[in-house]
Amino acid sequence: MLGAALTAAAGLTAVVTAGYQSMAPTGQWYGRTFTGLPRGSKKLALTYDDGPNDPCTLHLLEVLAKHDVRATFFLIGRHVEHRPDIVRAVVQAGHVVGNHTFSHPNLIFASAQRTRLELQRCDQALRDAVGEHSRLFRPPFGGRRPGTLQLARSLGLEPVMWNVTGWDWSGKPAKYIEHKVGRQIRGGDVMLLHDGSHAAFGADRSQTVSATDRLIARYKAEGYEFVTVPEMFRKPGLSS
Ligand SMILES: [Zn+2]
Repeated sequence: MLGAALTAAAGLTAVVTAGYQSMAPTGQWYGRTFTGLPRGSKKLALTYDDGPNDPCTLHLLEVLAKHDVRATFFLIGRHVEHRPDIVRAVVQAGHVVGNHTFSHPNLIFASAQRTRLELQRCDQALRDAVGEHSRLFRPPFGGRRPGTLQLARSLGLEPVMWNVTGWDWSGKPAKYIEHKVGRQIRGGDVMLLHDGSHAAFGADRSQTVSATDRLIARYKAEGYEFVTVPEMFRKPGLSS
C-alpha cells in the first residue's frame, strides 16, 4: 500500500517535472538547447521575440546602433509577411534574425505536421523578406517536447532558449525590466526581451526599448560585451 502510494507520488512528481521541463527555458531533458555560457563570462546576448513591430522595432534599432551593439531577433512569420521592410532594416543593421514560427502556437500542443508547417512557413517568410538567414529557432512560450526539437533539428534548425527574462510583456516600466534583468545576470547570459507581441501587431514595447538603452549602458560600463547568439556560441555557421 505504502509502496503503491510512493510509486504514485513518484509518478506524479515525474509528470509535474516533465511538464515543468517542457516549458522551463533552461531545462535540458528534451535535448540540449542554447541557454547561455558558463557563468562568469563577460559576454551577454540580447534577444528580442515576437517582432517585427512598428514602431518599436525601428526605435530599438536606433538604440542598438547608438551603442554599436548587435542583437538576435526571433520573428513571427505572419508579422514578417506583414512588414518585410522592417525585417530588412534589422538585417541591414547587422543583427541576426531567427525563426519563431509562423503564428506563435504553443508547440507542446501541436502535431508534428502542424509544427513542421509552422517552422517552414516562418522560414519561407524570412526567405522572401531577406533571403538566407540564421538557422536559429526559438519555440513560442519556450514550449517544446522531445519531438519538437527533433523535428526542428531535422529541418536544420538550432533551438535557442534563454536564462534571463525581462518579464517585459506586461507593460511594466523600463526600470522594472532593468531591475528584473539585473537580478539574473551572472555573465554569459541569453536575455529574453520583446520588441513585438504575438497577440497583435503594433503592441507598445517602448518600455523595453528604454530598458535596453539603460541595460547596455550599465553592463558595458561593467566591462561586458554584447554579442549575437551565433557569436556567443562560436557557431558562425548558424548565422547564414
Ligand atoms: Zn514569442
